[in-house]
Amino acid sequence: MTLTSENYYSQDANMAYMSVSQFKAFDRCEAAALATLRGEYYPASSTATLVGGYVDAWFSGELSLFQDQHPEVFKRDGTLKAEYIKAQDIISRMESDELFRLLMSGRKQVIVTGYIAGIPFKGKIDSLLDAETCAEIVRRFPGTRAALGDAARGAIVDQKVMRDLQPVWSDEDHCKLPFVEFYGYDLQGGVYQALEGHDLPFILAVGTKETAIDLTALYVSKADLTAGLYQVEDRAPRYQAIKEGKLLPRRCERCDHCKATRKLSSIIDYRDLVPEDED
Ligand SMILES: [Zn+2]
Repeated sequence: MTLTSENYYSQDANMAYMSVSQFKAFDRCEAAALATLRGEYYPASSTATLVGGYVDAWFSGELSLFQDQHPEVFKRDGTLKAEYIKAQDIISRMESDELFRLLMSGRKQVIVTGYIAGIPFKGKIDSLLDAETCAEIVRRFPGTRAALGDAARGAIVDQKVMRDLQPVWSDEDHCKLPFVEFYGYDLQGGVYQALEGHDLPFILAVGTKETAIDLTALYVSKADLTAGLYQVEDRAPRYQAIKEGKLLPRRCERCDHCKATRKLSSIIDYRDLVPEDED
C-alpha cells in the first residue's frame, strides 16, 4: 500500500503500517488499541490533541482543510473557540522567532516508511530540513551546532505544543520525567530517524500554552534515540502479532474502552476498588 496525505490516517493504512502513535496506544492498552484499529472503539480526541492538530495544520498549509474536518473548533456564531484563538497566538509567537521559523521552513509533512524489527512502520515528518538550511542555521545561530553538528546532512524537526516545559509525574516510574521521555518523543525520534534513513538529528520545536507563551528548541542525543528505537524494536513484534490476530490483547482494565466492555464475573470488597489515576 502506497501512503499519501489523503490515506495516511485511514484504517487501511493503520492496519498495513504501525506508527509511533499506534505503538504508544498499544503501550497504554492493547485491547483499546486493537479495538480502535478495527473501528470498534473511537477514542475521544481531546481538546489538547485538537489544539496541537490546529497548529500542525497551520504550519503545513492545511488549516482550511483542518477547519472543514473539525467544525468543533468554531462557536455557533462562526468565530473560533477560546482554545483555538490561543492556538493562533501560539502560532504567532512561533512565527515571530527567527530560529523557530527556520526550523519549520523545511519540506512539510514528509511521509516516511520502512521496516523496524521486520514490521512495516510509517511516519510523517513535520519539517525535513536540507543540508543547506542546516548550515545556514548553524552559521546564524552557533548555539545550534551541538544539535545539528558540523556537517549535518539535514535534520528532522517535529513541532509540539505543550502545556508547559516542566517534568511530568509518571505513575509507572514513581518519579517525574522530562516531558520528552514521558510522552515518548525520544522513541518517536528513534523511529523517524530509522525510517528517514540518513542518520539525521531529531529536533523538537516546542511552544507552550502558558499565559506567557514560551518557546524552546530541543534535540534528543543519538544515544537516547537509539535507546528509544530499542524500546520499539522490543515491544512492536508483540503488538504486530496482536494486530494479525495471532495473540490476544491484554486489557488494562482502566481505560474507557475497558470500562465500557467490562464483563462482571465476581463480587469484590468495596475497599478493593482501585482509585483512578490522577492526571
Ligand atoms: Zn484498557
